[in-house]
Amino acid sequence: MQDNVSKIKDRLDVVEVIGSYMKLQKAGINYKGRCPFHNEKTPSFFVSPERQIWHCFGCAKGGDMFEFVKEIEGVEFPEAMKTLAARAGVQLETFTREASLQRDAKTRLYEVCELATKFFKKQFESTTGKKTLQYLRDRGMADETIKEFRLGFAPKDWESLAGYLRTCGYADQEIVDAGMAIRSEKKQGIYDRFRSRIMFPITDISGQVVGFSGRVFALAAEVSAKEASGSQNLQTQPVDKGVDQTDHVVAKYVNTPQTLIYDKSRVLYGLSQAKLDIKKADQCILVEGNMDALMSYQAGVRNVVASSGTALTPHHLRLLQRYTKNLGFCFDTDQAGAMATKRGIGLALAQQFNIKVLAIEDKECKDPADFVQKYGPRWSELVAAAKPVVDYYFDKARLAYNPTKAESGKAVLASVAPFVKRLASNVERSHWISQLAALLRVPEQAVIADLQNIKDDFVVYDNSEGGGRSEQSQSEAPSKLAPDLLNEAILSVVLKNPAVARESGIPHDLLDARTSAVIRHISDRNEPFEFSALISSFPETAMHLEFANLRAQELWNELDEEELAFEFRRLLNMARKRALTTRLVALQFDLKEAEANQQRERVATLAAEFNDIARQLTIINRHGEEKNEEATKKAGGGQETETIRQPTAKESSQAG
Ligand SMILES: [Zn+2]
Repeated sequence: MQDNVSKIKDRLDVVEVIGSYMKLQKAGINYKGRCPFHNEKTPSFFVSPERQIWHCFGCAKGGDMFEFVKEIEGVEFPEAMKTLAARAGVQLETFTREASLQRDAKTRLYEVCELATKFFKKQFESTTGKKTLQYLRDRGMADETIKEFRLGFAPKDWESLAGYLRTCGYADQEIVDAGMAIRSEKKQGIYDRFRSRIMFPITDISGQVVGFSGRVFALAAEVSAKEASGSQNLQTQPVDKGVDQTDHVVAKYVNTPQTLIYDKSRVLYGLSQAKLDIKKADQCILVEGNMDALMSYQAGVRNVVASSGTALTPHHLRLLQRYTKNLGFCFDTDQAGAMATKRGIGLALAQQFNIKVLAIEDKECKDPADFVQKYGPRWSELVAAAKPVVDYYFDKARLAYNPTKAESGKAVLASVAPFVKRLASNVERSHWISQLAALLRVPEQAVIADLQNIKDDFVVYDNSEGGGRSEQSQSEAPSKLAPDLLNEAILSVVLKNPAVARESGIPHDLLDARTSAVIRHISDRNEPFEFSALISSFPETAMHLEFANLRAQELWNELDEEELAFEFRRLLNMARKRALTTRLVALQFDLKEAEANQQRERVATLAAEFNDIARQLTIINRHGEEKNEEATKKAGGGQETETIRQPTAKESSQAG
């Protein structure tokens, strides 16, 4: 296994591996980008081609290329190994039996899906197949689109696909496992899941077919004829039911169920085709239906994906986050679509996406597919004219507002406030507060008060899928400092210039054991150290050292000795303050306990210690402020005392 790891590392470059998932830009000797694992505006995610590692100064994540793939794909080591081995062209023979069996099972399912795709495509040549093809053309779909997205037709038979797959050598169980057939309850055997349907193959990010979405054909023709009736539906809810010739009630859409290779909450329709365009445009247009995505693609707006009738999940958004932070929502124009849009926006705002909303105003068009069919290339104008999310909801509320009714004013606030509340920018927030005040003819203070009280009804998503992180903790870079980050920062100064550390004195009691050991090692020798030699002296903490080294390269490079010394003292102060605060909290508990037990002597001792520590904290705080002012004068810019230095926008632009 170890051998494979080094083989892969020899053949691949960490910058290329990471660059295929996210945007990286050269910054001096390293590369940087916005961290895909926490939300930030200024890049604090760095990749070192020299050391072949990556590290985020904001959330402390980091490691080698394997760690990155594990983290971003949400997989364990063997899967990451497989992904990277395939990329590097390294053959893996040392897989455990179980893993290789599972790999075989998956491979077989991929094969089944691929064969089914070809089978469905071939059916376009049949009599009914030709009609479906004509139907698609009538809806405005070009033959190239049909070909590129590999659409097909599932015949109205119970065993045509299953029969075909059997002749290709696949067992019934495999056909069922791939989601292509269903076990019959009445008689022995299996029958085709998709019958008389237009088939949309669903691919994973690498373009392999993993499942299908099947749109019923007979009904499709009916619906198309009845479109003027205005009764629309969301694909998620198969409310739009028709009756096939055997009197079975059929759903408009049938999708592959969860299989070993398909999980609808993690796959977005069209992403494998659109991903590069999304990166290029730095925006992704989100639509509901597969047809919408295809028609948009065809009309030249290729940075488009469909949620394919499923509700948007945090996984979907994390997937998109690899390519862009900008989303444009264009869901169906019906009530269900409006609900889905609002819900999706709530979810995306929580993950700090910048959101725009595309509004289809033509009443005859219920979705983007209709719009493209009617207006063609004007679709791209509509996309370009998308409004930022608050503008969109504000305009809607303004049009519906009736000043003679108090209830109407409340409705305006209720529909706009949740979005205004979530705005990261104070300037923007106050802009909307004054807009609302002007519209409702009330003082801004009243709007502010209402904003605080308004019930936030639109974040109705399941947090458990987001890896258990609360919405709040997702919203910004971690403000509470993880111990390893502070220790890492202190170590990074020592790596940059051991002399600075030696002069300031190093309070080892404030450091964690591994940091302390390394700093002792360096400062005990009065000679310049070799980084690679240091790494080999501390094999267990190698990655900790790598991270500190990267931090030293990125943050301390432009600082002269005096500024570095100042930064070092500031970091030590933070460490001291943290230790004192921790002790203070513990003392509060002890004091309460002692008081409750009426231990007067203990109360007195604890209170004395409490006061002493509180006094020390006051001194540190005051000291910090003074030092800070001093530094502000010198450096021509201030740093907040409470944060570990991060790359600033100025440095970023200089470096890039
Ligand atoms: Zn991060």
